[in-house]
This record gives sequence, C-alpha cells and structure tokens, in this order.
Amino acid sequence: MTNAKEIKFTMDKTKHIALVAHDGKKKEMVEWCERNKEILKGHFLCGTGTTAKLISEKTGLPVKGYCSGPLGGDQQIGSRIVEGGIDFLIFLWDPLESQPHDPDVKALLRIAVVYDIPVANNLATADFLLASEYMNKEYDRTVENFNITIQERVKHFQ
Ligand code: PGA
Repeated sequence: MTNAKEIKFTMDKTKHIALVAHDGKKKEMVEWCERNKEILKGHFLCGTGTTAKLISEKTGLPVKGYCSGPLGGDQQIGSRIVEGGIDFLIFLWDPLESQPHDPDVKALLRIAVVYDIPVANNLATADFLLASEYMNKEYDRTVENFNITIQERVKHFQ
C-alpha cells in the first residue's frame, strides 16, 4: 500500500460514461447522444434506468441501465464511481424543477468531484468534453489517498 497523499487513477482510452437526465432534460440528452453517436459508440455507456432505456431505444447505442434515479440509480452510479467502474459523467439535471431525490443528486455530484472525474451538467460542457484530446488517450485522475486518511483518523481516535 502506498503512503502517498494522492493516488493516480488512469482512465483508459475507452471511457466508462454515465448518462443521467432529469425528465425536463431527457429529450436534450437523447438528441445529444444521437448527434454524437459515432464518438459514443467507441465507449462504454451506462445510465439511470429511464435515461438509459430511452437512449438505447432511440439511438441504438448499447447503454447499461441502473435503477431509475428516484429509486436509487444516482446512488448506484455514485458507488460505481467510487469503485472505479465509471470515469465520466454527463448529468443533465433540471435547474427549473425540484426533485424528490435531491439529496442523491447532490451526493452524485459531490462524489464525482471527490474522484476527479469529468462532469458535464449542460450540453455545451458535454460538447467541450467530447471534443477534448483526452477522449482518445489515457488520462491520470488525482484522488486523495483515503487509506492514509483512514490510518490517520484511526490513530486520532486511539
Ligand atoms: P431516470 O433517472 O433516468 O430513471 O429518469 C434520472 C434521475 O432523475 O436521476
């Protein structure tokens, strides 16, 4: 186990992209995926239940579906980020509509920052991310070494 304060996680050339769109943003998400189909088909896609199903039905892209967002799908995606199984997030949350699962939304956005993964919350950012040179190469993300944090915290409480 390394003693470094930070750990590098190498993102592969092929990204594991999670797609989540609130109801008011689902149409935008599907159209964006259709426009960017050629790029997206070179990556692994997943998403919250309804978003994933809509995208795969309308575009033909394979999208692994988790539970629907309000039923815990955001949390499932968050846990996959923690485990290293998702390294890229397009999350079109609706700024004009309150959500029953608002705490989950916040948790997902927070964990994406903790794990230093690229996140787009609107189409313009999604376009910029997809046009990035890093889409076609490996990229090292920097994450705090939580093993050290745990060791220090355990010492603190002894
Ligand atoms: P949905 O969930 O794709 O199942 O609608 C999205 C969300 O509200 O997080």
